[in-house]
Amino acid sequence: MILKNLKTVEGKIISIEINGSKIAKVYDGITSEGENMEGKLVTPALVDSHAHLDSNFLLDVCKEAETPKFIEALKALLECKSKLSADEIYKLAKKSLYYYISHGTLYIRTHIMIDDTLDRLKYIARLKEEFKDILQIQIIGFVQSYSYFDDNVEENIYKSLEIADGVGGQPHLQPSREDGIGMIKKIFDSVEGKDKLLDFHADFADDPETKFSEVIISETLKRKMQGKVSLSHVTAMHSYNEDYFRRYLKWLKESKINVIVAPITALEESGAFENYPKRRGIARVLDLISEGVNVALGHDDIQNHLNPYGVGDMLQSGFILAISSYMYFSSYAKTIFDLMTYNGAKAQLIKNYGIYEGADANLVIYNSTNPLDALREIKPRRMVISKGKIVYESNINEELKVNVD
Ligand SMILES: [Zn+2]
Repeated sequence: MILKNLKTVEGKIISIEINGSKIAKVYDGITSEGENMEGKLVTPALVDSHAHLDSNFLLDVCKEAETPKFIEALKALLECKSKLSADEIYKLAKKSLYYYISHGTLYIRTHIMIDDTLDRLKYIARLKEEFKDILQIQIIGFVQSYSYFDDNVEENIYKSLEIADGVGGQPHLQPSREDGIGMIKKIFDSVEGKDKLLDFHADFADDPETKFSEVIISETLKRKMQGKVSLSHVTAMHSYNEDYFRRYLKWLKESKINVIVAPITALEESGAFENYPKRRGIARVLDLISEGVNVALGHDDIQNHLNPYGVGDMLQSGFILAISSYMYFSSYAKTIFDLMTYNGAKAQLIKNYGIYEGADANLVIYNSTNPLDALREIKPRRMVISKGKIVYESNINEELKVNVD
């Protein structure tokens, strides 16, 4: 199969030949053979670096919290999850995979709650296996609740590593700073000598004194785990004073830790306990990027207590990032695409990723011709190709037809 007349995020016209599951050749310009894609934007498949497959579509089966406060919403979400069987969670997760695929997201890092049971993890691992020829799911065993001190949790961390690609937790939800530090060290201990990844829900708070990521940075350096650790959210960074932030940034870069931002939930959850003016806290993406930190993007929850609006589309996440992070120069549209493609691939250590001869033929073709229009318009994707096969296609009318007579 040859797809001709495609435009890269850099604005270059190319044609792509696909043979089996691989890209056989990339041609400059428009080939004589092949299906004409009319100059539409093409990227490698999108990478969602922060998802919760075991929490998607919970509002299909459970009620919303009575108040829109984050803490109430989290409580309702955890209650809902504890009531559902692993099979029910599996079905909701499977439904969400069709959303991801139609949006061109073929790489997902998902955190799966392991506090009380490993059943969810086992069922999501089954889903991963069933869908492995279409999309790649990376599983992080996740201590989600406040229950770190329950007897089973530590055992579950170790057991989860027999199935999961890595582990993580929420140190800022523990009773004291010492407890949070203890949790971080134990989680690092659990992957010692194993080829595993770490991804913490780190400093997901407004309080500028919430500083667990400095401990994670320190452990990453001491244990030589550079490149294998990620910090998700880090919204407290928004509130750090400049003096602290600049020292912190130096070590963040040194540790080669990936920072994963999920702007939709960051905005929904920040400022919950404040009167106006309320904080709209989000990690300092432009400062991180300019310092050379690898920043990746996540969509986070789909239609649950924490995000009833989610549809799992990375373009929505990219749009909200642009609006919330002062990325309003049009040139930032390309940067945003980097966050949800190559930077995500770097964080997840994805192999054979990109548009080059020999890469996996996992591609998205948009119904827009450049990154800025794609983020403005958020149209259904023109085509999604997974391992050389077309797994989603739409052909929408490009003309704007307004009847005002
Ligand atoms: Zn999360």
